Amino acid sequence: MTIRTTCPYCGVGCGVAVIDGMMRGDPAHPANFGRLCSKGVALKETLELPDRLTKPMMHGREASWNQALDFIAKEFARIRGMHGPDSIAFYVSGQFLTEDYYVANKLMKGFIGSGNIDTNSRLCMSSSVAGHVRAFGEDVVPGCYEDLEEADLVIQVGSNMAWCHPVLYQRLMASREKRGTKIITIDPRRTATAETADLHLPLAAGTDVLLFNGLLVHLVETDAVDRRWIGAHVSGFEEALAIARREAPSVDAVAEAVGVAASDVRRFYDLFARTERVVTLYSQGVNQSVSGTDKVNAILNCHLASGRIGRAGMGPFSLTGQPNAMGGREVGGLANQLAAHMTFAPDDIDRVRRFWNAPSIATRPGHKAVDLFEAIAEGRVKAVWIAATNPADSMPRAGRVRDVLARCPLVVVSDAWPTDTTALADVVLPAASWGEKEGTVTNSERCISRQRAFRLPPGSARPDWWMFAEVACRMGWQKEFSYGGVADIFREHAALSAFENDGQRIFDIGALADLDDAAYSTFLPVQWPCPRPGRGRSGARLFARGGFPTPDGRARMHPLATRAGEVLDDYPLTLNTGRVRDQWHTMTRTGRVPHLMTHITGPRLTMHPRDAARRGIEDGGLAQVESLHGGTILRVSVDDAMRPGNVFVPMHWTDQFSSSGPIDRLVHAVTDTVSGQPDLKGTQVKVAAVSESWSGFLLRRGAGDLALGETVHWSKAPLTAGFAFELSGWTPLAELVDSEEALRRLLRLSEAAELISYSDPKKSVFRYAGLAGGRLEACVFFAAPRTAFPEAGQAARLLGQALEPGARLSLLAGLEPGAVQTGKVICTCFSVEEAAICSAIRSEKLTTPAEIGTMLRAGTNCGSCIPELKKLLARHATQLPAVA
Ligand code: SF4
Repeated sequence: MTIRTTCPYCGVGCGVAVIDGMMRGDPAHPANFGRLCSKGVALKETLELPDRLTKPMMHGREASWNQALDFIAKEFARIRGMHGPDSIAFYVSGQFLTEDYYVANKLMKGFIGSGNIDTNSRLCMSSSVAGHVRAFGEDVVPGCYEDLEEADLVIQVGSNMAWCHPVLYQRLMASREKRGTKIITIDPRRTATAETADLHLPLAAGTDVLLFNGLLVHLVETDAVDRRWIGAHVSGFEEALAIARREAPSVDAVAEAVGVAASDVRRFYDLFARTERVVTLYSQGVNQSVSGTDKVNAILNCHLASGRIGRAGMGPFSLTGQPNAMGGREVGGLANQLAAHMTFAPDDIDRVRRFWNAPSIATRPGHKAVDLFEAIAEGRVKAVWIAATNPADSMPRAGRVRDVLARCPLVVVSDAWPTDTTALADVVLPAASWGEKEGTVTNSERCISRQRAFRLPPGSARPDWWMFAEVACRMGWQKEFSYGGVADIFREHAALSAFENDGQRIFDIGALADLDDAAYSTFLPVQWPCPRPGRGRSGARLFARGGFPTPDGRARMHPLATRAGEVLDDYPLTLNTGRVRDQWHTMTRTGRVPHLMTHITGPRLTMHPRDAARRGIEDGGLAQVESLHGGTILRVSVDDAMRPGNVFVPMHWTDQFSSSGPIDRLVHAVTDTVSGQPDLKGTQVKVAAVSESWSGFLLRRGAGDLALGETVHWSKAPLTAGFAFELSGWTPLAELVDSEEALRRLLRLSEAAELISYSDPKKSVFRYAGLAGGRLEACVFFAAPRTAFPEAGQAARLLGQALEPGARLSLLAGLEPGAVQTGKVICTCFSVEEAAICSAIRSEKLTTPAEIGTMLRAGTNCGSCIPELKKLLARHATQLPAVA
């Protein structure tokens, strides 16, 4: 039997077909037509991960669902009664299904009576929401994925889509092969996406508004604006142009201000001006900024001024980060929205109040994410329910968020796995996860797809909507929250979208309000708007003929000036945080899949060679990074893909995976004043070299604490048979290996286990291995000074294996002569290592990624490694002797 569901990771929203327990991309899904990226391919491996939360816990003790839910309902009622509705808050997630979101939002805004529900989507795309609302009157993405395939020019702004939206990126690459689409990447980093672009503009961080203001001026000066369209459908053109002219009087002035060659800026502007079919894609590099909303509107201004919107192959296109950030926006999961794209305007409040039969409905917005944790810190919020998200690692100033939660009188956390946030909870509720729950999600192109259950949740885990509905019933609102299942919730959500909506609100899915349970169960992906017949517009593309949902039907161009970010003289570098290819958020799923940890094995700080040299930092060395809010030690990758003055650190690693901890501990809590989105890419930091006196690797069957103290840097990655730790330290190695007891603790060996060793103190080489029943339980290799350990991969293959005397000697001798060396995995889908690719390039004289694919399969599935294959080919091309 085939069960069609949707991938739970990014906003591309790929369909997944589960056939008798096997998984593959769903060829019938309109987002991916059968493709999956490395994360999607590995979904099956995340189903049986250990450590699931399976029972409710109260104050560290197991509880029944009745005990936990009664306690929460009673405490919420007590706190609401004593301190008012705004003393309670929910912080939820773009991982929620729409039905989870709907019930949580209805409970908080309709019945508890506060606007205090916000979501981690605030950190991801709330600037796009605010930009859409300012320009169009409603949060609407005007285009669809096919536009990428029908465009002649695609501009990617602040978006590393090769890694973050890989399947959509591959659709773009495939169409480029056919129609010769020109691609421009605008990003301070030369990302994998930029590597394949026709033109890369490595602009100075935070100068996007100025760059697009310059484009607006250029469009006017080259007569590339559509004055008829503007006259009919747009307001604010003259005001926006006036300020753009002041900001960006000439191409040369723009080039100097954004730090890019004038010839490249001119080429970008000319290409935009003379190409009719232009799509501008943007994501977190635009959104996560103090001026995120302005950046969005600067892009929208250029599309509105040129009339390039809503027609095939043209328009601005915001790529959402999470699988259901869009669904959250639809139900009103952000604190400044009410429900179903309605606001806190009096008419909307009245309409939703009547629909929900909710006399205590909230009448004003609640706290946005960063302010929400401040409100907890100040005691204004006394109870918080955090669901399907991990703010102890992902919020800016994460250390402070932990302190705040530790002091909050009541913290409820629902999640599927233990996290640094569940560790701070008074009540932990076990949540059903992907594959165990039913509902819907909406992807970046407004396409609603089903997530379907194909296995039972472990223990007594339950879906989130059920928990919120149960608490609501126990607080006295049984009639309004007694849902028979998710189909009931979806029908109500769809009906609300259509309620008293005669086309004023574009978000209208009234045609889905009458689906019976069977139709809900089988419904195929559908793009909104999809109103009841004759009640409003529908279509994959919107606004080609204007008709914006504003009082006068016109879109608004906004006058925009560049706003300076934080400048701190003692912190001269700008810290950019973001995603890597094979990881997802705080790694609660992907960090436990061994082969997803083989591409990038630990947290790295990437910096430009000039910045590194100035500080005496070597590639692969350690560095101390400090902001005003905290510091950490990270291993450094020196890479000229970085713009000088900028450093990059992935957002994923937490205290559970590395001594570096979450980088968000260092990130400032400055937000965009319009959207409230945190500036996650603009923290000022300083970086200094740390000299390590030794390095090593540890392999062992169990994870557990290392308890090595603060003078040892470590990161952890799962193996098929255990865990691998990279280690290095800056106190004498002898202190670490001075007793058998300490070594046994490190290796987690029992008294009965056999400890064997090899030491050469003169060369500062120490190797220890522990065996139980003749099988390798653990081993640790140390060397001083810092060294690489190519033998770590070989040793990892021995973990858990029975070792004959010869194999033991071989292990302690360092490596097995002639054994296959392992290294970085480039293609995660087919586990193809860099060494194998380089060897094939050399021996077979391969010159294209397609040839590598034919030979090794690398790059033939999701294709997100193709930029790296090209890099390897280029590296070898420069090394090959010239052909006479
Ligand atoms: S691109 Fe990858 S992570 Fe995103 S939805 Fe598709 S398979 Fe999932």
